Amino acid sequence: MRIIVAFLLFSLLSQTQVPAQKLDVKKYDFTLELSDQNDEIVGEAIIDLVLFESTPSFSLQLVKKQDKTGMRVTRVFVNGLPSCFHFGEDDRVYVKNNTGNWPHNIPLQVKIEYFGIPGDGLIISDNKFGSRSFFGDNWPDRAHHWLPVIDHPSDKAEVEFKIIAPQHYEIIASGALIERINLSDGKSLHHFKSKQEYPTKVMVLAASEFKVTPYDTLKGVPISSWIYEENKTGEMDYLPSVAVFQFFSDTIGDYIYPKLVNVQSKTRYGGMENAGNIFYFENSVNGKNEVEALIAHEVAHQWFGNACTEKDWPHIWLSEGFATYMTDLYWEHKYGAEAFWKRLEKERKAVINFGKKRSALVVDSTVNDLMYLLNPNSYQKGAWVLHMLRNEIGDDLFFRVMQEYYDKYKYSNAETADFIETAERISGKDLGVFFRQWLYSEMNPDFEITWFIEEDERLKDKMLILKVKQKHEDHLFQLTLDVLFGQDLFSLTIDQEDNYFVLPVFKGHSPVWDPEIKLLYEADIHQRKFDYDSGDSLRFKKWSVREFNQRPITRKIDLSEANILLQPGDLLFQDLDCGPLCEAIESVTQGYRGADFSHVAMVSEMDESRIMVFEAIGGKVRETKLEDFLSRSQDDNGDPKVMIGRVKDQSIKDKALREIKKYEGKAYDDVFIIENDSYYCSELLYFSYLDKGEPIFKLYPMTFKKPNSDDFDPAWIEYYRDLGVDIPEGEPGLNPGGISRSPYVEMLYHFGKPSGYRE
Ligand SMILES: [Zn+2]
Repeated sequence: MRIIVAFLLFSLLSQTQVPAQKLDVKKYDFTLELSDQNDEIVGEAIIDLVLFESTPSFSLQLVKKQDKTGMRVTRVFVNGLPSCFHFGEDDRVYVKNNTGNWPHNIPLQVKIEYFGIPGDGLIISDNKFGSRSFFGDNWPDRAHHWLPVIDHPSDKAEVEFKIIAPQHYEIIASGALIERINLSDGKSLHHFKSKQEYPTKVMVLAASEFKVTPYDTLKGVPISSWIYEENKTGEMDYLPSVAVFQFFSDTIGDYIYPKLVNVQSKTRYGGMENAGNIFYFENSVNGKNEVEALIAHEVAHQWFGNACTEKDWPHIWLSEGFATYMTDLYWEHKYGAEAFWKRLEKERKAVINFGKKRSALVVDSTVNDLMYLLNPNSYQKGAWVLHMLRNEIGDDLFFRVMQEYYDKYKYSNAETADFIETAERISGKDLGVFFRQWLYSEMNPDFEITWFIEEDERLKDKMLILKVKQKHEDHLFQLTLDVLFGQDLFSLTIDQEDNYFVLPVFKGHSPVWDPEIKLLYEADIHQRKFDYDSGDSLRFKKWSVREFNQRPITRKIDLSEANILLQPGDLLFQDLDCGPLCEAIESVTQGYRGADFSHVAMVSEMDESRIMVFEAIGGKVRETKLEDFLSRSQDDNGDPKVMIGRVKDQSIKDKALREIKKYEGKAYDDVFIIENDSYYCSELLYFSYLDKGEPIFKLYPMTFKKPNSDDFDPAWIEYYRDLGVDIPEGEPGLNPGGISRSPYVEMLYHFGKPSGYRE
């Protein structure tokens, strides 16, 4: 029942614009002759079709000659017999039956002979090196500038290309190469044939002088690169297509085309996902491997857009939104959660900004100029709808939905209702509200969030009191907003205009909103006490808390975020590369999640322009600029090997900030002894972080021996020999690794990754 309800609802809302077509093309068989003398093409199209109703006249689209460009039709045949025709000013070739009706539901074969100079659709020009080339570029409906077709994605058909061209050209086209024959007049014939049905938007040919590089054959599909012969480098620029192919075919389902060719081209787009032979912009080849995301996007279209094709243009998100999210998924797979979140944040920003400029639905049936559909609603918001669906139904079900949808429609067309039906059927959930608010509302959630920490005795504990107000009172969303407080993740159900929550928390943190980048929203956030106790408006909401450490607890930040996310009193744990001594420290100490820490410091001062760090290093206790501190050691990505921990109790932290200043200028403690009025890094913190006068970090007997051994580490033997003192084996002390694992400390962020760190 719910499926039917959803279907009725969306079929009413979507108002599809499929033109009332009177026929279905089953197969195109094009013979085209290309020339070096001029830009005229000579074509013959044999079109197998079926009429839906008997009619005296039916038509195919072809752009008629005006001035210099356009086509002229010389003859038309039906089932081998010459036929009357009329080439209309509406760029349609009308095939007429002067004696009665053409029969319906019976296969007809129409042959159209034509010639002319394509004004668009087939780009005939010099490439960037000045060599003549031909590139089909049909999206969205520019195929009929050079091919007689039904130029709409709903009418997919098999296609054959027989291309006659001067022999110096390498030729690629839709389908598999059946044969290549040299003809007598210095020309060659290339014959390509498809078993699958293609929409006209991705049915093309290319002729140029190419350098062909085979990459690999995966699951029987050869993957290769075709770049202009003149390139000195760049043969491997399209290599990521191999890994992308592997990931998508493993994740979604088998690829349906006979080849995957990456072609340097004259496409007007950055990339054009032509089925089986993707065309990329000319400068994508530069030997620098800079187009991995573009490759992932276009390869994703082979599954979504080409195989599984949208039935009509308002449903373009089924193509572009899917390709965008598939690229995100590939990024997550290859580069991990942080990189994935970064892409999602960027996409979210694009959606929010676009929403302020233009009020439109994702499934937008008001657009006449199809180029307007290439907007963030189709791409980024479409991707975000899939991302939120994944969070709504979970990874397992989400990927099953994607696989099932692909499998069901990979040889045909689908519209939004088909995807919704699949998602509801596989998940067993009523997703009516979900899809209605994300696809059929022009709004995006906009919140005003107000929060403060309450220590009211009646509440027995510290509480985070917060109010989430939906600003669009006429478009209330039903959704979940996550907030991370320390290590507790709360999932807040937002379904009213004003939503109040009371959450049990440790004092002293700031909430992190939507830490895992799961929600498409924007918010103004204020830390401000509000009157929640008066009147009846406060409703204590139930909250759900789940363990947050299935994912890395610490979030990666960079210097630009440090100002927002760091707080005075935060601890900075550093993996220094100081040679044998640092290694000796790290070998006998255990840091948070295995991290090797050899140094620790405190964020002491923050203002708009700078962040200062208090530390014992290089002879004395002193303040250092954060940038200088961070520049000491880098991980493989060039990020500082520094993690950030926070002491949970604000009063301890406040006191520590005052306390630590007392030690400024004191000598560095080379010997590592507690009671000598000189200080090493962790010792400085030991004396600064106090609770009721007592240090919160514990002292343990120190060891200077090699792990699992009775022998001193040679680095320490040398070190203490130079100092002229005995090794203080067994004396009380502490180390950065131990502090990072203290129950008083919560590890929140990291810049880069220290060695040994396990996520
Ligand atoms: Zn695309």
